[in-house]
Amino acid sequence: ETKTEDFVIHEDMIKDIFRPREDFSHKGTYGKAIIAGGSYGKMGAAVLATKSALRTGAGLTFTLAPKCGYEILQTSNPEAMFIEGGNDFIDHFETDEHAVCGIGPGLGTIDETAKSFLTFLKNYSKPLILDADALNIISQDSKNVKIIPKNSIITPHPKEFERMFGATENSFERLKLAKNKAKELGIYIVLKDHHTQVVTPEGDAFYNITGNSGLAKGGSGDILTGILTSFSAQHYSEKEAAVLGVWFHGRAAELASEKHSKESVLPTDIIDEFGNVFKELN
Ligand code: AMP
Ligand code: MG
Repeated sequence: ETKTEDFVIHEDMIKDIFRPREDFSHKGTYGKAIIAGGSYGKMGAAVLATKSALRTGAGLTFTLAPKCGYEILQTSNPEAMFIEGGNDFIDHFETDEHAVCGIGPGLGTIDETAKSFLTFLKNYSKPLILDADALNIISQDSKNVKIIPKNSIITPHPKEFERMFGATENSFERLKLAKNKAKELGIYIVLKDHHTQVVTPEGDAFYNITGNSGLAKGGSGDILTGILTSFSAQHYSEKEAAVLGVWFHGRAAELASEKHSKESVLPTDIIDEFGNVFKELN
C-alpha cells in the first residue's frame, strides 16, 4: 500500500491556485456551469446553488430543473438560463458536453428522478460535481458508486457518506475509508464537516480550516455545490476547484458571520460576501 499524505489548506496554497480574471476575455473564457436540481418544495436549494455559481464567476450559468421552478428560478436568478427537465421533478437530464454539471441540490429521490439520473450517470464520462440527493440516489444500491465518472467530486456530509459507504466508528476511521474509496473509484471526496477534508484519488487529504458553525444550517451545502461547479467550469482542475472551493466557502462564511452573527447568518448572506473574498485574493 502506498503512503498517503495529509495537508492543511493554507492561504499560500490558495493564492497559488487562484487565477485573477483576465482583461482580454469574454464569457466563453469562464466556462459553462449547469446546476441540476430542485423539485416541488425544494426549489430553494437550486436557487442557492445557481446564485452561488453566478457569484463565483462562471461565464454562463444554467439551472436544469422541473417546470414548477421556472418562474422562481428566472425571477431569483435572472442571469441564469433555464433548462426544463420535467414537470414537478426532474425526469430527464439534458447537458452540454462543454459544460460542467453540478447535480443534487433539492433534486429529490422519487423513482422517476432516480431512474433518469442513474441512466444519465451510466452514459456520462466527464467529471461531475455530485451532492445531496444525487448521492442519496446513488446510495440506493451499493453497486452504483462504480458508475460515478472518474475525477468527479462528491460532497457528502457525514450522514450522506455513511449512506454511500457504510458506518464508521469515528472521524479517523471515516477518513481512512474515504481515502480507500477515493482511490478505488478514482474520485475526489469532499468530506463535509467542521473541518472539511478534500480526499484525492491518490488518497491524500487536504484539511480546510476556514468556516464556522454559522454554516450549520440548511442551504450551506447547496452553495458549496455552486462554488465547485463554477470553479470547475472555469477550468480549474478538480483538485484545485475542491481545495479552493472549500476554503472560499468557509472564508465567506467567516466574513458573513462577522456581520450577521453565526446564529443569524444565512447562506444568502454568505453568497453576498463572495465578492469580498475575491477582493482578498486579487
Ligand atoms: P450540508 O449539510 O450539505 O448543508 O453542508 C453543510 C456545509 O456547511 C458543509 O460545507 C459543512 O462543512 C459546513 N458546516 C456545517 N456545520 C459546520 C460547522 N459547525 N463548522 C464549520 N462548517 C460547518
Ligand atoms: Mg447538503
